[in-house]
Amino acid sequence: MFLTFVMIASAALVGTVATAGTAQADGCYTWNRTLKEGHSGNDVTQLQIRVAGYPGYGAQLAIDGKFGPATKAAVKRFQQAYGLSADGVAGPNTYSKIYALQDNDCTPIHFTYAEMNRCNSSWSGGAVSAATAKQNALRAMWKLEALRHALGDRPLTTSSGFRSHACNNAAGGAAGSNHLYGTAIDLTGSPSFCTIVKQARYHGFNHILGPGFPGHNDHAHLAGQSTRRWSAPSCGI
Ligand SMILES: [Zn+2]
Repeated sequence: MFLTFVMIASAALVGTVATAGTAQADGCYTWNRTLKEGHSGNDVTQLQIRVAGYPGYGAQLAIDGKFGPATKAAVKRFQQAYGLSADGVAGPNTYSKIYALQDNDCTPIHFTYAEMNRCNSSWSGGAVSAATAKQNALRAMWKLEALRHALGDRPLTTSSGFRSHACNNAAGGAAGSNHLYGTAIDLTGSPSFCTIVKQARYHGFNHILGPGFPGHNDHAHLAGQSTRRWSAPSCGI
């Protein structure tokens, strides 16, 4: 009898979950409603962070909690990139894909906080608060995940992310470097740096430095910042 009861209860629970359309819950963040143009709130902010790597060529998506045309277009590009029905509305299918792409600490599955901070474990000592630096690094990683997917799901090798002033000085980084804010990522390894920097223009990186720019023949530097600055003369950029 007891076993029967448990089985019925389980079936009822499964039915409830399916009706609610919550797809799978996630250790990091779970969306509770379908989001579309006109909506606002923290759930929109959380969505924007995940699709910020899909703003279109030369653009950056504002993470402002307001679902406007740019967010709709970014959601659409995300959906297209993963073969989902592309309507610019974030519902169960979109959330399922995001859940599959993120770890319980909210980082995308192919990148970690540890690799974004080889300087210290506290995220302190930079140009912004530790919390802001870590949040900036998270946002940069989601753009990097989009870049990685666009390059054919090839592994990307990071060599530097957040730096305190001390770490930036030791690395010979520029004064006022984006690395002090946690917004910058340096990539080494493969694919070629020109392949990386060319594709990065589509994924929300407004600061791109690569081959031909002084000090950047051995890595690609990608960051988010308000004004665009791209320079990789050897790659035609
Ligand atoms: Zn750099």
